Amino acid sequence: MTGPQLAPSMPVQTLDSLRQRAISLYVQYGSWRRVAALWGVSVGTVIRVASGYEPKRTGLRAALGLPPLVTLQTGPGVAITSGAILITSSRTCPCGRSFIPNHPSRTHCPTCRPPRRRK
Ligand SMILES: [Zn+2]
Repeated sequence: MTGPQLAPSMPVQTLDSLRQRAISLYVQYGSWRRVAALWGVSVGTVIRVASGYEPKRTGLRAALGLPPLVTLQTGPGVAITSGAILITSSRTCPCGRSFIPNHPSRTHCPTCRPPRRRK
């Protein structure tokens, strides 16, 4: 058998990459049931993901390799809507952009503080 094999330890991925993978596996195997068996989830879940639905349950997200969701409580001056769903590793720069830090000490987005060039 050739093609992508989905291990339980799938890398963290976006909903869009997961959706595209579901569709390409369906094209490859011609069966949603088969894709569901490969992923270890229900047929309904696979079809919902393929149509763009974002799974919310923590265990299901982990099984699919999606990052956990957090609900954000915002205070004054925060440029993100309260209740927005964010990837837990994202941060907000004082300029208002959300970014994924490349280092734990990074507090500003790459636009405000471009990474230093190696000498
Ligand atoms: Zn910034």
